[in-house]
Amino acid sequence: MLKELTVNTPHEGFVEITSQVAEIVRQSRGEKNLCQVFVPHTTAGVTINENADPDVVKDMLLALNHIVPKLAYQHGEGNSRAHVKASMVGSSVSVPIINGTLHLGTWQGIYFCEFDGPRKRKVYVTIL
Ligand code: ZN
Repeated sequence: MLKELTVNTPHEGFVEITSQVAEIVRQSRGEKNLCQVFVPHTTAGVTINENADPDVVKDMLLALNHIVPKLAYQHGEGNSRAHVKASMVGSSVSVPIINGTLHLGTWQGIYFCEFDGPRKRKVYVTIL
């Protein structure tokens, strides 16, 4: 089963999508073991990290912006830093499904990572 989510994003930042993904898992039927979340974009990605303290994802963005400097990039669109950061976080995550629910760790949340917004973005959630 594959479902599509829409995420409205800020200029740059992490948007938590855990509850939307968990709802898709809840609605799926039968013996399912894995939930894959895939972002079909080249200047955005997806990651799992702490959702108890919202400052954690702010710090992740701060660190990514420090690690990926402003350079004389060749790409004419002018958003190469966003492309680099998207590849660094990756375009998919997988989470086990146990007893019909998304089995994240206690402090974990699933975050859509926007590096070149604001935009209306897609996320594909596949239940296997
Ligand atoms: Zn580009």
